[in-house]
Amino acid sequence: MTKEYDIVIIGGGPGGYVAAIRASQLGLKVAVVEKGKIGGTCLHTGCIPTKALLRSAELYSQTKNANRYGVIAPEVGLDFTKVQARKEEIQDRLYKGIQHLIKKGKIDIYEGKGSILESKDVLVQLNNEEGEVIVSPRNILIATGSRPRTFHGLEADEMYVMTSDEALEMETLPKSIIIVGGGVIGIEWASMLVDFDIQVTVIEYADRILPTEDKDVSKEIQRLLKKKGVKIVTGAKVLSETLEKGDGVSIKAEHKGKEVSFSADKLLVSVGRLPNIEGIGLDKTAIEMNGVFIKTNEFYQTKEPNIYAIGDVIGGLQLAHVASHEGIIAIEHIAGKNPKVLDPTQVPKCVYCSPEVASVGLTEDDAKEKGFQVKTGKFSFRAIGKALVFGESDGFIKLVVEEGTNKMLGAHMVGPHVTDMITEFGLAQVLNATSMDIAHMIHPHPTLAEAIGEAALAVDGKAIHA
Ligand code: FAD
Repeated sequence: MTKEYDIVIIGGGPGGYVAAIRASQLGLKVAVVEKGKIGGTCLHTGCIPTKALLRSAELYSQTKNANRYGVIAPEVGLDFTKVQARKEEIQDRLYKGIQHLIKKGKIDIYEGKGSILESKDVLVQLNNEEGEVIVSPRNILIATGSRPRTFHGLEADEMYVMTSDEALEMETLPKSIIIVGGGVIGIEWASMLVDFDIQVTVIEYADRILPTEDKDVSKEIQRLLKKKGVKIVTGAKVLSETLEKGDGVSIKAEHKGKEVSFSADKLLVSVGRLPNIEGIGLDKTAIEMNGVFIKTNEFYQTKEPNIYAIGDVIGGLQLAHVASHEGIIAIEHIAGKNPKVLDPTQVPKCVYCSPEVASVGLTEDDAKEKGFQVKTGKFSFRAIGKALVFGESDGFIKLVVEEGTNKMLGAHMVGPHVTDMITEFGLAQVLNATSMDIAHMIHPHPTLAEAIGEAALAVDGKAIHA
C-alpha cells in the first residue's frame, strides 16, 4: 500500500521546506523528498556559508586597520581552519533548527531522489541503496532548485577550477584567484577574498559588474572594489579553450579586440545557475518549459493542475526569500485560499560584498524603458554622522520616483549595512508610498537610515545636509 499525502514536495531547500511548514500549519498531510540535506543550497552551499566567510573576512580586514580607530592590534593573523569551522557550526545550528521545525510540523521526510511517475505518484530512490518507495500525493510541488553553471572547458576539478560549491570547501586560501563572472556570487567572493588579502581578478562579459543593478550602483561598487585592490576587467569574453593548468592556471580573454592573458593560483567560475530538472520525471507530465526553467502561472501551477513548481527551478529572481515566498503562495493556492500574487518589483535584492549593495524595484533605466517620466534623489553616506562614526562612509542611496506623483519606483543602495536597511524601501514599495511619505517617516539620529530620509527629500532638491 502506498502512503497517501495531500502534498509531496520534491526538494527541501528554502522553497520546499518552508512550503512544507505552511502546509502543515494549514492541516495538510505533507512529505518532503530530499536527496541531500534539508536546507538546500541556501543553508549548505549558498547564503549562509558565504555570509559566515564574508563576516570573518570583513573582521580580519577591519582588525588590520583598527589603528585608525585608535585600537592597537599589532599582530593580526588568520586561522582559516577556524574560519571554516565557525561557518560549519552556524550551518549545523541552523540545520538542527530546521529539523526541529520539520518534526514539530509532523512532516514526513524521505531521504532520496524523487521523480514523478506516469500515474502522478512520486517514486523515491532512497539514499544509501535502501531501495525504493512510492508515495501517492494529491498534489506535487517541485522545488528541486539549481546548481552552478559552468562553461565547457571550465568544469570544476580537484585542483584549480572551482565553482562556489568547491570554493566553500577550500582548506587553505590561494594567493591569487581569477573569478569568471561579476554577478552577485562572483562579487561576493571577490570582496571576501580581497579582504582575506588574496589577489583577485574579476573578468566580466557585460560592460559592468552587477549588470542587473542600477548603473550608478555598478559604477560605485566597481570603484570601491578597485580601491580595495580587486582588478576588474569588464566587456571581456573568457576563452575557455585557452585554459592551461600547471603551476596554477592561466587563461585568455578577448578584450577590446585583443587577447589578454590572466594567471593565478586558482580560478572560480560564477556564471549563473542551471535548474535541476533532469531525472525528475518531467517527461511523464504535460509540464511546459520556459527555456530551461519550468513554466508556471502566478500561483506556481504548471500545465498539470496538480503539479506546482517554485524557487530556482522556475527561474526569475533566484533568491532564497523568493523561493520561500513562492512556496507559501503555492501551498495556499492548493489549500483553496486566495494568496496575494508576488510582485517582483517588491522583492529586495542584496549583495553582501563590503560595502554592501541592496535594491528594490525598478532601476532608473528600467523605469524609463517602461515609459515612466522619472526623477531621482541621491544622498551620500559621507554626510551621515553614524557612517563616519563607523568609519564606513562610502556609498549612497538613490531613490527613483515617478515625476509628478513622486510615487516610489525603485531604491538602490551601496554602503554600510544597506542589506538591513532595504526593508524600509521594501515596505514603502508594498504600500505604494511616495518620496514624501518616506521623508515623513522620522529617521532617528544618529543612524545610517537618516540617508533614506535625506534621499527622499533630495528627490525635490530638499535634502537638509546636501
Ligand atoms: P535549493 O536551495 O537549491 O534546494 C533544492 C533542494 O532540492 C536541494 O536540497 C536538492 O538537494 C534537492 N533536490 C534536487 N533534486 C532533487 C530530487 N530529484 N529529489 C530530491 N531532492 C532533490 N539567496 C539569497 O536570497 N540570499 C543570499 O545571500 C544568497 N547567497 C547565495 C550564495 C551562493 C554562493 C549561492 C550559490 C546561492 C545564493 N543564494 C542566495 C541563492 C539561494 O541559495 C537560492 O535562491 C535558494 O536556495 C533557492 O531555493 P530552492 O528551494 O528553490 O532550491
